[in-house]
Amino acid sequence: MDTNYTVLARKYRSQDFESLIGQDVLVKTLTTAIKTGRIAHAYIFTGIRGTGKTSTARILAKALNCLSSDGPTATPCGKCENCRAIAAGQHIDVMEIDAASHTGVDNMREILDAAQYRPTNGRYKVYIIDEVHMLSSSAFNALLKTLEEPPAHVIFILATTEIRKVPVTILSRCQRFDLVRVPVETLKKHFAWIAEQEQVELSDEANDLLARAADGSVRDGLSLLDQAIAQTGGHVDETAVMDMLKRADRGVVVDFMQTILSGNVANAIAKADDIYTNGADLTMLLSDMMEWTHWATRMHPVLRIGDSEHIPYTADQRERINNINKHVSLNTLSRLWQVMVAAVPEMQAATNQKQCFDMLIVRLMHIADMPPISEMIKQEKTSAPVAPVQKAEQKKVEIKTATDLANALSNAREMLMYSYFTKNIEVSEIANNKIAYFDRGDDGDFQKKLIVWLNTNTGANWTLEKLEQSGQQQTVGEQEKIAVESDPMVADAMSLFENAEIVGVSKQ
Ligand SMILES: [Zn+2]
Repeated sequence: MDTNYTVLARKYRSQDFESLIGQDVLVKTLTTAIKTGRIAHAYIFTGIRGTGKTSTARILAKALNCLSSDGPTATPCGKCENCRAIAAGQHIDVMEIDAASHTGVDNMREILDAAQYRPTNGRYKVYIIDEVHMLSSSAFNALLKTLEEPPAHVIFILATTEIRKVPVTILSRCQRFDLVRVPVETLKKHFAWIAEQEQVELSDEANDLLARAADGSVRDGLSLLDQAIAQTGGHVDETAVMDMLKRADRGVVVDFMQTILSGNVANAIAKADDIYTNGADLTMLLSDMMEWTHWATRMHPVLRIGDSEHIPYTADQRERINNINKHVSLNTLSRLWQVMVAAVPEMQAATNQKQCFDMLIVRLMHIADMPPISEMIKQEKTSAPVAPVQKAEQKKVEIKTATDLANALSNAREMLMYSYFTKNIEVSEIANNKIAYFDRGDDGDFQKKLIVWLNTNTGANWTLEKLEQSGQQQTVGEQEKIAVESDPMVADAMSLFENAEIVGVSKQ
């Protein structure tokens, strides 16, 4: 490696609007404005780090001051004295200010005082204020004063990663541009092109990993590429990048998830040992497992919203996920996801990540094993010594117990009455079409509605006797809750979630 090595991000910094990566809307709007002479006095660029905010600011400064045309141009030449000085950050009329180190009001006043003097070599004095949200409020006030009555030759270009921290009074005087996260495909194209310029090998798989890890930031992606080139001496392949990112191969992750879902705990922990010994970072592995769960959910036959363009798996891996999905319900996937999300802070706080991870596996396997909650409740219901009440064909409903009545209301989709009944009514006796009960609630209409419903649906004439005093009986809701809590499978499910409480039993 030669000693004059320039980092790729600097070497391949965009020098004109055309070469800005992934910001098509911004480029179109800005160039049109320049061509038609509509130049604002203040711009603000916002977006995550590494999307090209300062590059855009410099290109705009060049566009305003390029000597190749009589006025501002959308295509600065890059060769004239002004263009070259701006690109090098050395133009006397283009001030680049890092707000992080100039937060004070005195600093800002001093800078702004100079704004009233005409530019020396350019058409415009350009103030590029980076990370502008870092300014103190008095510094913002000083800036606002200048923004309210800007001298004709002054242009402000503000850049920030945190637009919400910039006062509205400032924002309302700026033309705002949002720089978007650069898409994976665009990044890949860019990285492939750079690899060609640099004459290094970059495999498509390695490129894909880098582009995804960059998470929309050209600069982050390029510094990863820098690092990969340095580590491999210019032969950047998938293994090297995975090694560098401390990631397990996606194939390994697919394999691992399959083992977890198959329910063999010993096997799964042995696999985790392997992956760990091979140097994978366990937090990364967890994040890969979450990625897997997310994509498996999208690809699930019930949803089928996996669009093949963005799926990060090979055709072979996809096939395997589809096979796994045949035996896994959406419900299970969504519960896996919940447990993994909850494990993220746990893993970060753990003094021993491997222990934490092993316990997570046990929890995940438990979930994979369990039938959906709705199934459990159904089993609970059918095992109760109560004849299930049929609807539709069986017109006359027979009601002998409080549970009969609850089921009948539920089957008839009388959900308001059902929920009031199961929550508030303590039935002390049902016999000969007469119900004696105590009402814990205060819905005066309930009795009226229930009697109408009973008379219509049972073909008999009912009498409802509302008792003055509670006989300390359980409501149907309370009975169901106790029945469910005592179910061993539910108790198991409850033990997975700290401080969990059954707040209701759903009738599905
Ligand atoms: Zn020029």
